[in-house]
Amino acid sequence: MAHPVLVVAVGSCEQHGPHLPLGTDSVIAAAVAERLVAGLEAADRPAVLAPIISIGASGEHAGFPGTLSFGSAVMEEMVVELVRSADHFAAVVIVNGHGGNTAALAAAGERLAAEGRRPVVIPCSFARGDAHAGRTETSVMLALAPDLVRIDLAEPGAVEGWPELRDRVLAGGVASVSPNGVLGDPTGATAAEGRSLLDDLVARSLATALAALNALVDPVDPVDPVDPVAPVAPVAPAARLHG
Ligand SMILES: [Zn+2]
Repeated sequence: MAHPVLVVAVGSCEQHGPHLPLGTDSVIAAAVAERLVAGLEAADRPAVLAPIISIGASGEHAGFPGTLSFGSAVMEEMVVELVRSADHFAAVVIVNGHGGNTAALAAAGERLAAEGRRPVVIPCSFARGDAHAGRTETSVMLALAPDLVRIDLAEPGAVEGWPELRDRVLAGGVASVSPNGVLGDPTGATAAEGRSLLDDLVARSLATALAALNALVDPVDPVDPVDPVAPVAPVAPAARLHG
């Protein structure tokens, strides 16, 4: 039997306003990853789910109680080592539930590509998505884990669009633009809307993953610039694990 594809969900442990749990991004990434495994299996691509990485790079949420972060540098290193250690899988698909992890995943992907390893990164980018703990994430959490949502505490935060907020959030963190930590307006969120957002995301993610996996096996472009005999860096020695 062909070696399976490894699917890894990467989330975060960070404030999501007064009404959503710290693990919101992890719950969402895990659900998408689980459905992706089922979809890959149905498409004749054996796949297995890795344990979730539930702390990420969340420096922009500093100052809010409960937020924990490895930071981008550690996150990048962790992903590089994880993918190196997974050479016995046919490929690695990383489902990312947190925008703050994007830079670390991109940097890790560049380093891994130079070694001839090509993890496929799937961002949990919802259609019509607002930035953080707003209507989108609240609807999806109502669909996935309603017991973890305190809808009675849901209130609007900074409601400008992400393009308007981006520079201020990057400069001063979420706390500088939204005292309650919400970027968007969660009132009006529904489980039905969450289910539809999730179905759409899973369908798009599966199509992206299958296309990327097919391209890994059968490169469509014979003049692919990546050197197929590029040296593969060794997996970090186990001694490092024991200090
Ligand atoms: Zn989130």
